Amino acid sequence: MSCLIDTIREIGPEWQTMFDELEKATTLSLLIIAAWQLARVLAVRMVEETLARRAQAKTEWRPCPKCGKRLQSKGLAPRQIKSPIGDIKWQRRLGRCPNKCIIGQVAPFDRELGLVSNQKSDTGLRQAACLVAIFVPFETASILLKQLAGIDISGQTIWEWVQTVGQRMMKSLEAELERLATGELPEVETMSAEVAAQVLLTGADGVMVPFRPQMGTAAGKTRWREVKVAVFARLGTVCTRAGQKTPRLHHHRVAAVLGDIDDLSERMWLEGLKQGVKETSPVVWLSDGARGLWRLFDERFQPYATGVLDFYHAAQNIWSGVKVWLDGRTTHCRDWFADARHRLRHGQADNVLKEVKAAAASPGLPDSAVKALTKLYNYLEKHGSLGIQGVHPYMVIR
Ligand SMILES: [Zn+2]
Repeated sequence: MSCLIDTIREIGPEWQTMFDELEKATTLSLLIIAAWQLARVLAVRMVEETLARRAQAKTEWRPCPKCGKRLQSKGLAPRQIKSPIGDIKWQRRLGRCPNKCIIGQVAPFDRELGLVSNQKSDTGLRQAACLVAIFVPFETASILLKQLAGIDISGQTIWEWVQTVGQRMMKSLEAELERLATGELPEVETMSAEVAAQVLLTGADGVMVPFRPQMGTAAGKTRWREVKVAVFARLGTVCTRAGQKTPRLHHHRVAAVLGDIDDLSERMWLEGLKQGVKETSPVVWLSDGARGLWRLFDERFQPYATGVLDFYHAAQNIWSGVKVWLDGRTTHCRDWFADARHRLRHGQADNVLKEVKAAAASPGLPDSAVKALTKLYNYLEKHGSLGIQGVHPYMVIR
């Protein structure tokens, strides 16, 4: 049974303490930790052996970019990379110009491996760290990576990686926006026929995000600023364990910007085109009553999408109007509101609109009530034409 372990023991006698840990492990969880440690050193050994073998192959030296003379080997030099399985070390040939041109270190083997000069960590490791840092603070990301993968990276290092990746992504987004401005449309994202046939839902809103008061330091009072966020998602169905089909949003894509509505508009339109706004039917736009967002809808999405007013915002507005008219403390008022909300949810917005209009015109009403009802009427009329629909909670994007 212990055939594999015996074989590994023969290969790596220096791992004896780890085998001892494996033997000593009484609980399953200790056993798993001990085996995982061994698996990691084994993986590092396999990668290093492969690299050592490949580094022996003959190097095709290219001509010097300055003088054109073929480069010459100046022998082997060590290289090290931090990776998810541990530090990986190998030796590879470095080249130099026989005319001593200043061209930096030339390592053809590094380039073959997809490494850039000065790269000290594996791309996959950076990717994982940046993804974790999207959801938790940098220090917590560092702790999580240590706990989950046994990797030691400081919060500061992760912060620097995020900065680098962020700068690169911003540059590529700016280039895409420039191309779009000249009329060049982006490619629609590749997706399965099943996903492409599903309803495309979209919406946008502002969220308050905490910022540092000054660059480079966490000292001082937090500054809250509004980041505008647009979300795209496909409405699919999943089968529950009871065999029931229930709706589920998936294939989420986000466009966000610290800026004004026009900054959001071009970014949201770019992402919309990538998500197939022009090719998909139906496309549903869901939004609250914010005026700027409806302007964005009119300017960009209106020819392709159906606008739907967020049910909860509509209900909230009805309550604000009705509580002034009928006195929010009374049962009569609450009943009227419950009934109106029910009708709203079931597509009878016109019906509610009529009643509000009639109420506003009834004689002897105090000024405050007339004002509140007129405001409500205008709100319902403007957005009602866009179709207030019964929206289930899963469709509420925020
Ligand atoms: Zn040269």
